[in-house]
Amino acid sequence: MEKKNVLVIGGGIAGIQASLDLADKGMQVYLVEREPSIGGRMAQLDKTFPTNDCSICILAPKMADCFGHDNINVMTYSEVSEIAGDAGNYNATVTRKARHVNEDVCTGCGDCNAKCPVKVPNEFDMELGMRKAIYLPFLQAVPRVMTIDEENCIFYTKGKCRLCEKACKIGAIEFDKGPEELKLNVGSIIVATGYDVWDPTPAKEYGYKKVQNVFTAMEFERMINAAGPTGGHIQRRSDGERPKKIGFIQCVGSRNPQLDHPYCCSVCCMHSTKEAILAREHHDDMESFIFYKDMRTFGKGFNEYMERGKSEYGITYINSDATVQENPANQNPIVVYDVAGKQEKMEVDMVILATTLVPRKGAKELAKLLDIDVDEFGFYESADKLLNPVDTKRPGIFIAGYCHEPMDIPEAVAQASGAAARAAELLSTKGVS
Ligand code: SF4
Ligand code: SF4
Repeated sequence: MEKKNVLVIGGGIAGIQASLDLADKGMQVYLVEREPSIGGRMAQLDKTFPTNDCSICILAPKMADCFGHDNINVMTYSEVSEIAGDAGNYNATVTRKARHVNEDVCTGCGDCNAKCPVKVPNEFDMELGMRKAIYLPFLQAVPRVMTIDEENCIFYTKGKCRLCEKACKIGAIEFDKGPEELKLNVGSIIVATGYDVWDPTPAKEYGYKKVQNVFTAMEFERMINAAGPTGGHIQRRSDGERPKKIGFIQCVGSRNPQLDHPYCCSVCCMHSTKEAILAREHHDDMESFIFYKDMRTFGKGFNEYMERGKSEYGITYINSDATVQENPANQNPIVVYDVAGKQEKMEVDMVILATTLVPRKGAKELAKLLDIDVDEFGFYESADKLLNPVDTKRPGIFIAGYCHEPMDIPEAVAQASGAAARAAELLSTKGVS
């Protein structure tokens, strides 16, 4: 039977927006997210450009609306494992991984977390901080329930411990529960799986993981966040000192055919400008230098934002490629760049790499499962880039957000609404009830 149900894959801002639009139209939505919480990358950002609004302050109410909506069934820690059928009548199998904590019972009180003896690097904080083996991914996580990480939990690796179980007075821990499979029948599918941050270690010229005081832009984002691993303090890896002079290097991995990313990531010019502005807002004496290939400040208010960066926040923009060396005496990074064909060197206290963004791990496998195309970089392909940008070649399956192509948050939100409208249109014109 054809249904007005829609499956949304990916619980970042695009997936959340598409789900809310459809649910508000009276459609039943199944939102599947593979991480323990919805929120995606936007939840990791400190502020958004060009308004410097607090990212989680905008996102958290949408996350809560989504979770509390009568027409949305949020399935976190879950993945789509099978798809069959056609537009108007897709059968999907969703595998719900074992969280080992009962979602209906856990209150997120944290008593179990306090007793857990295992600490591992926290992915949400780009591994700059630690989390426990039983954990809430971040403060505003939705749902606000714990997850046991089987790979690091002593009970699963050595068969003992269970301290979290003793600590939980309401019996929410479920060591024996395994994964579950759910069968869904939906009329349409929206794919909004977002992006991963590229690891710049292979591009040795930037010194990442070799020069201690080189960070990625996403690491800096977590560092500068008051709820992040350093409580909002900007700190060097080598000595914990606060930097006073920061070099930002643009297009790290982007626009680089040798690294298989010849495309522009579309956000790093603004992202670095924002981070330099925030650094100066934190400390009046902070000096920032942005080394860029081209400034691509194409969006509404973007160029004005960059100009404010120069005039009000003292950011210096230097048009040059740049590489990084280290001063062994003080672990200061040294930025090597060109001015009018002459090599120059600038010693700074910290370097931030604006790394490119790439399709999420597993994006190609999901494309195969859904029988949709990916382009040469692994982004999902439109049926017609010009006139049908959110349709895929498979009727009834739509795409939205960064998984489709590089874009910023407002564009991802607009595409999500577009994909939701296309899904609703398809299901209405099919006359299904
Ligand atoms: Fe609290 Fe129990 Fe949930 Fe842990 S599992 S947060 S102790 S309710
Ligand atoms: Fe932590 Fe695992 Fe021990 Fe629970 S059983 S306290 S999750 S190590």
